[in-house]
Amino acid sequence: MSSNPSFVLRKPLDLVFEDRPDPKIQDPHSVKVAVKKTGVCGSDVHYYLHGGIGDFIVKAPMVLGHESAGEVVEVGPEVKDLKVGDRVALEPGVPSRLSQEYKEGRYNLCPCMVFAATPPYDGTLCRHYIIPEDFCVKLPDHVSLEEGALVEPLSVAVHCNKLAKTTAQDVVIVFGAGPVGLLAVGVANAFGSSTIVCVDLVPEKLELAKKFGATHTFVPTKGDSPNESADKIRALIKGAGLSDSPNVALECTGAEPSIQTAVSVLATSGRLVQVGMGKDDVNFPITKCIVKEITVLGSFRYCHGDYPLAVQLVASGKIDVKKLVTNRFTFKEAEQAYKTAAEGKAIKIIIDGPEEE
Ligand SMILES: [Zn+2]
Repeated sequence: MSSNPSFVLRKPLDLVFEDRPDPKIQDPHSVKVAVKKTGVCGSDVHYYLHGGIGDFIVKAPMVLGHESAGEVVEVGPEVKDLKVGDRVALEPGVPSRLSQEYKEGRYNLCPCMVFAATPPYDGTLCRHYIIPEDFCVKLPDHVSLEEGALVEPLSVAVHCNKLAKTTAQDVVIVFGAGPVGLLAVGVANAFGSSTIVCVDLVPEKLELAKKFGATHTFVPTKGDSPNESADKIRALIKGAGLSDSPNVALECTGAEPSIQTAVSVLATSGRLVQVGMGKDDVNFPITKCIVKEITVLGSFRYCHGDYPLAVQLVASGKIDVKKLVTNRFTFKEAEQAYKTAAEGKAIKIIIDGPEEE
């Protein structure tokens, strides 16, 4: 094979396989990776169904996929730390090394970020993907490539817990039991929090949250106001932690009632970290934030150290990411994988690379 089979979104609901030319290493610090496993992300599904997210609009055919792991098949002449045959997790966003954000150590905020499967950049659902060596994290022998692909959402969960400064002293509440919410529970647990509440509308998802370390789960009652939900949550955890109100909220849904409940339930001096993306504008209980001196932080993707720590959390057995996987598809079945994801029942879907068949 001297070509690069790729799974391409042409426009909403229009998916095709294209045989593209095999990419060549141009930057001497880059490696060529044979992609072996790719997770389907909510953002991919959004592009598939709607052709865009916010300002990112698919204007030209785009290869999907950004949660990937694979095997190094070629290295550039200046590559120092990787060799052919190494198994790696791919950090899919590469910033400009000249940007101010990069120099400040917040490269995830670089406006020139080249991020896989974010228009106009192609993603990783292809045979070969080129990436700088320092955006690959080597996987220990006992960590599978599937686990390597799941390092991407795990890194999102690591990043928000770092921003929240989660420690053993914190009572943490996580809104949403999708992949990121579940992993946020797992990371809060790994960071030492001994009281973790997970909130979701779907009781079955909360069963999984318990497996990631949630000590309490809560299903909001239909028709309850955010304040009523907050009262019920406080009653639920009364006496379990150092305080009866959570002091860290990781909001992974982006849903307005959930954000309002987070602010309502937080203790004084609490920290709200917003991870989930929903509507651009929401009604926000700002007065509650003032009188409780709540810190509100946005959390976007991941930054330096998050990917390596995520790999370590998997390698040490602290977080079993495999528990997320509900469906697996071959590369040829990629369209079916997206259709299944769009139905919304799966937690995490994994697609093989083209060479796996
Ligand atoms: Zn993702």
